[in-house]
Amino acid sequence: MTAVTGAFLIDYAKARDRFRSAAAALAWRLESHPVGGAGPHGETLTIDAACSPGGPATPVLVVSSGMHGVEGIFGSAVQARLLDRWRAHGTPDVRVVFIHAINPFGFAWQRRTDADNVDVNRNFLLDDEPYSGAPEAYAELDGLLNPRRPPARWDGFRLRAALAIARHGMAALRRAVATGQYDFPRGLFFGGAHPSAAHRILADRLPAWIDDAPAVVHLDLHTGLGSHGACHLLVDFPIDDALADAFTRWLGPDALSAANAQAAGYHARGGFGRWCVARTLAPTYVFAYAEFGTYGPLTVLDRLRRENQAHHWATPDAACTIRARHRLVDAFCPASTRWRAATLDRAVDLVSSTAARFARR
Ligand SMILES: [Zn+2]
Repeated sequence: MTAVTGAFLIDYAKARDRFRSAAAALAWRLESHPVGGAGPHGETLTIDAACSPGGPATPVLVVSSGMHGVEGIFGSAVQARLLDRWRAHGTPDVRVVFIHAINPFGFAWQRRTDADNVDVNRNFLLDDEPYSGAPEAYAELDGLLNPRRPPARWDGFRLRAALAIARHGMAALRRAVATGQYDFPRGLFFGGAHPSAAHRILADRLPAWIDDAPAVVHLDLHTGLGSHGACHLLVDFPIDDALADAFTRWLGPDALSAANAQAAGYHARGGFGRWCVARTLAPTYVFAYAEFGTYGPLTVLDRLRRENQAHHWATPDAACTIRARHRLVDAFCPASTRWRAATLDRAVDLVSSTAARFARR
């Protein structure tokens, strides 16, 4: 139990140190790219990548973490556990690239967004897509989602949300809220006004890390969506027959139908997966968000909303801000030892079995 609890490092700098040490122990090549700004202890904020040895033009397994800042507590624990395991039992028979903390600001400051309040997984618009617009219902819901005052203990959010669900329907409401918006800079699910630091660094470095691989499997680790403790694979791009075949062979026989069923409720603009696939960095690029569920959607939304409210409208050391931050951390990395043990095992199994299937391909 202690080993599980200790695997989840809330402190970004410590998690990054652990990642760097574990990758160095395997003699993997390390890169570190500053995004600007500093963490709460004055530490530089960086996106780190570790690449296993191996020549160009070989298949690559990519595992990325921390796109949503605070979710990196979980993703970093998974990456560290895999590196330790591979050091003890041998590395997979494919080249591996680990990307640590795509949004280091959010990890360090325990937010889901970056320093500009940007949901980085809504920021990866393609070159011809404008950073503007919002779902029609978002403006209508702005007052409910983004109140311009510090959070109060009771503000009737659940009742008002229930009324909004009754009026719009759950699916339409989810689409309006979580698709991403580019018109409310202090609002939830804001996709930014231009490519973020993470977007620019990945655009610059991902081709070198992929290095002419004939095939890529990319798992991007997330928490907060789906049933408690369960793992769901999600996609945000169309899958043709050739990609479907690779998806099934490398991620497992049931992965695609499950991902498609989940994706029916998952509409996002500016997602990382669609962007990676659109860049055609490899002839076959299989991408999936690996989501590990925590709490129900209204609980997660309520905590996101309160933290965002506190961040913009209360002082950093106010009791309501501290409480909102703690509850946000718990929303994306529950304190429950059982949840931590189960999800860590599930994620390690997912990556290990994917690596084994991919190596046999
Ligand atoms: Zn996420």
